[in-house]
Amino acid sequence: MDSCLPIEPAQAKARRSRQARIVWNSRVVTVGGDAPVRVQSMTNTDTVDAIGTAIQVKELAMAGSELVRLTVNTPEAAQAVPYVREQLDRMGIDVPLVGDFHYNGHRLLTDFPDCAQALSKYRINPGNVGKGEKRDRQFGLMIEAAMRWNKPVRIGVNWGSLDQELLAELMDDNSRRASPWAAKSVMYEALITSAVESARRATDMGMSPDQIILSCKVSGVQDLVSVYRALAQRCDYALHLGLTEAGMGTKGAVASSAALAILLQEGIGDTIRVSLTPQPGEARTQEVVIASEILQALELRSFVPSVTACPGCGRTTSTTFQELTQQIEGFLRSQMPIWRDQYPGVEKLRVAVMGCIVNGPGESKHADIGISLPGTGEAPAAPVFIDGEKRMTLRGNDIAREFQKIVENYIENRFGKPTSVSVL
Ligand code: SF4
Repeated sequence: MDSCLPIEPAQAKARRSRQARIVWNSRVVTVGGDAPVRVQSMTNTDTVDAIGTAIQVKELAMAGSELVRLTVNTPEAAQAVPYVREQLDRMGIDVPLVGDFHYNGHRLLTDFPDCAQALSKYRINPGNVGKGEKRDRQFGLMIEAAMRWNKPVRIGVNWGSLDQELLAELMDDNSRRASPWAAKSVMYEALITSAVESARRATDMGMSPDQIILSCKVSGVQDLVSVYRALAQRCDYALHLGLTEAGMGTKGAVASSAALAILLQEGIGDTIRVSLTPQPGEARTQEVVIASEILQALELRSFVPSVTACPGCGRTTSTTFQELTQQIEGFLRSQMPIWRDQYPGVEKLRVAVMGCIVNGPGESKHADIGISLPGTGEAPAAPVFIDGEKRMTLRGNDIAREFQKIVENYIENRFGKPTSVSVL
């Protein structure tokens, strides 16, 4: 046993990319370098509906999205973009907007300068900028627009719209190899080549490498890990990371978490998006919640106080602890838009809601504030632990409300401005 070495706490490797700046008014969102990994999202409204789009952008921003992308697919959508921006500015929402362009971005960015100016970043898909000689010219027009308006770009390759001419060329080259690569390896190479070569064309035109973010999205977890590991070795651009078409519900959440966790732990990825298919009636903001939870689970960032809760078992006497967990989680999340400014640091708070004496007191002591509800055969009392010490015991039917009040008071005392007065 003496020869054992101390076990070092795991942590994500430092990232090493260039840093891009995405700006709207006085709001500057840095991506890459030593900036925190950014959360972004995309609207699913018709951009022509400027009011509806602005409302959804606001919801996404309030949920914690630091960049919001919207579809710019028609002249009408391009005309609507400045109105979306105006509505947001009126509401005091300064989140930078990213325009998502395919096929006609060169025309829209040229013909609608107000749109080009209102956006803070352009997403260009090199597989959808045209074919043959048109491809370079149209890509060039988009880069020119970005340089004219001093906007960064994301060169976003996607295997669903990969440059087929490039893929065919690489397949031909591969067939001439003495030992041809597997078709999948050629596809990976095509994705990366498309991104890196497009970036090189942009820098050849005079664009600063610090104005370029790259992505190579695929929908398989292992494919994404392979592609991004190689991409990170081949360039030092800031990387936008996400599993494309991740799917719906738990499938989408789990697949995105699995893929992103592996790469973020290796220091790969500077901004993330969870491409979740919303379930009918599900809020679009769910993709922001999941992206934030991934970063928080990896201890890369903190967004909302975390609630540790046990899964419940045969010792659980009722659904009280589930209801209390849900209530506390919902309460903490709903307060964050206000608390972010009012109580700096509150996002690091750890709350525990436990179902019985087995792990309840221990887990509650590890948290900043925890409650251990009574399990089967235990006295109907719920001890509350604050900063590792048992401070009080709650009883009766009003435990949930009382515990929430204790949490609120704790937050005010610990994170409130020094002048605030409150008693636990
Ligand atoms: S803390 Fe108690 S109720 Fe919760 S899972 Fe463990 S044994 Fe079951």
